[in-house]
Amino acid sequence: MAFNSIHFRSQFPSLQCEGVYLDSAATALKPLVMIEATKDYYQNVATVLRSKHTKALALDAQYELARSLTADLINAQYSHEIVWTKGATESINLVAQGYARKNLNIGDEIIVSELEHHSNLIPWIQVAQQTGAKVIKWPIEIDGTLSVDCLQTLITPKTRIIAVTQMSNVTGFQPDIYEISRIAHQHNAIIVVDGAQGIVHHPIDMQQYQIDFYAFSAHKLYAPTGLGVLYGKADLLEKMDCWQSGGKMLKSVSFTDFEPANIPYKFEAGTPNIAAVVGFYAVLDWLKSIDNFAATHYTINLVKDALIKLKTLPDINIHSVANSSLITFSIKDIHHDDIAILLAEQDIAIRSGELCAQPLMQALNCKGVIRASFMPYNSSMDVDKFILAIENAISILK
Ligand code: PMP
Repeated sequence: MAFNSIHFRSQFPSLQCEGVYLDSAATALKPLVMIEATKDYYQNVATVLRSKHTKALALDAQYELARSLTADLINAQYSHEIVWTKGATESINLVAQGYARKNLNIGDEIIVSELEHHSNLIPWIQVAQQTGAKVIKWPIEIDGTLSVDCLQTLITPKTRIIAVTQMSNVTGFQPDIYEISRIAHQHNAIIVVDGAQGIVHHPIDMQQYQIDFYAFSAHKLYAPTGLGVLYGKADLLEKMDCWQSGGKMLKSVSFTDFEPANIPYKFEAGTPNIAAVVGFYAVLDWLKSIDNFAATHYTINLVKDALIKLKTLPDINIHSVANSSLITFSIKDIHHDDIAILLAEQDIAIRSGELCAQPLMQALNCKGVIRASFMPYNSSMDVDKFILAIENAISILK
């Protein structure tokens, strides 16, 4: 399968206007197939897993099909290893409160990389405070990468969990997840991977990589907001506590006790975000017709071009790694938010600030950065407009 960037781009209604969208690492634009699917759902609305009327039963089937397409996307062994949540953040909190809180004891260690987004750090701090476990920092190297050798020096017999991102939302660095997983298991620890950024460009295989828990958000993968996925190995999910309870997460209940439902339903109390699952189903089906490898290659080439052009401008300090889908940088003596505002005035959407990674900003010795993140719907014209807009902004601010 080849990748046709013009055809791909034409499927995104919001790209029919002039502006340039380079904030996809925050949330991706939505293709028409997804918008139509959610609209259709609201025009033919019904609930799932409860009612027995015709529309509800048809939706039940689609709802579970979305789960099995998600399992296929990451090659999970069973579709019941896919838990619907409201986002990557909730998925990681579910592991922290459902698995870690139950299994950690005083003095146990959770290794967390310094590259992490707050949502793969704070849940671990919180559970450490609750259990008496310790969060151990896996520091970044001078070049902003993570070293597996360094990880080896941090592991002790007390290590229970290694929490790491598949791709940093700040530097774009992709740690060697396969090797980290191997090391974790060699030491009887589990690995929790934040796939929020990685899933978009580099889906990984849960069985081949032997991942214990994997979290991501549907909205960064072209789907609606308010839906996330937690993948967990079936035996780990079975042993986990549910942290929310209510309708449809139980087998039976008396006035004083209840028996939880089987996985994944015991983690899915209450009416779920049906519209988002329907939209995600449409995206997963549509993605089958796209060569993701070629699309990623296209995106990375756009970023390479942007990087070459950006480096010709004065006083640019690049913080992201090569061969990524994003560029993160700062400009000497210019505040990142001033650039974001001046770019917005030129109809260019980028992100500025700490990017939900304060500890990483401290390690990079930055107060904030500018991030331009690309997707296969971006074009070389977008790159040129972005560079021109940065040039204009610098000439105004210097
Ligand atoms: N991890 C990373 C690396 C992210 O980039 C994000 C979103 N910015 C998250 C986790 C959290 O995702 P969400 O806000 O959708 O839960």
